[in-house]
Amino acid sequence: MNYTEASTALEGRSPAEILAWAAAHGGPRVGFATGFGAEGCVVIDLIATQRLPIDIFTLDTGLLFPETYDLWHRLEAKYGITIRAVKPAKSVEAQGLAEGPELWLRDPDRCCEQRKIIPLRAELAKFDAWITAIRRDQTPERATAQIVEPDKKFALVKINPLVAWTHDEVWGHLYANDVPFNPLHEQGYPSIGCQPCTSKIIPGEDLRAGRWRGADKRECGLHTAEGVAKS
Ligand code: SF4
Repeated sequence: MNYTEASTALEGRSPAEILAWAAAHGGPRVGFATGFGAEGCVVIDLIATQRLPIDIFTLDTGLLFPETYDLWHRLEAKYGITIRAVKPAKSVEAQGLAEGPELWLRDPDRCCEQRKIIPLRAELAKFDAWITAIRRDQTPERATAQIVEPDKKFALVKINPLVAWTHDEVWGHLYANDVPFNPLHEQGYPSIGCQPCTSKIIPGEDLRAGRWRGADKRECGLHTAEGVAKS
């Protein structure tokens, strides 16, 4: 696959069209890893309503908000789909026994490595391509994301159908199509991850300011090139 040619050809196409292209050309095994953010809910809606053969899964760290677990079930019920749970080797309790309690406070990079990156790497080894819900204007690290690009970190093709969309386009789609979303978004949490590492933001703050607040960390490491950007 020529990634540059594919990306150029898909620029300006709708996320629904890009996802249909991914299902047709991404290889026999295409997966979508969702964290149940607003963007992820859009992608789930587009995959489910088009009945695309894309395997949807989530990294269940065991530390998600109750509202996120509830959203997971509401999405499955609305669309009649299964969103598979991919779990780390150790439960939260087992990790606490092995490494001490609340590893996320002392070493969030190590915690994310164990609870997200290692399970994701094992899961993605089963796929030819994976879909993400990142947008270019979310962070400086995501600003150069292409629609189709090689994912050197996980050694497969990465397809980003929402890269060109804005925050308002995402929310316009959610409201217009009655897509379930996390109620915490309307309570000061624009970006939601694990409960211990997510806080409310105040007006004027960056939309991801509530993630790992106080730590030198902006990403969990899923969407940055190995050794290039801070995870
Ligand atoms: S977001 Fe926080 S709790 Fe979740 S895996 Fe990363 S460091 Fe651990």
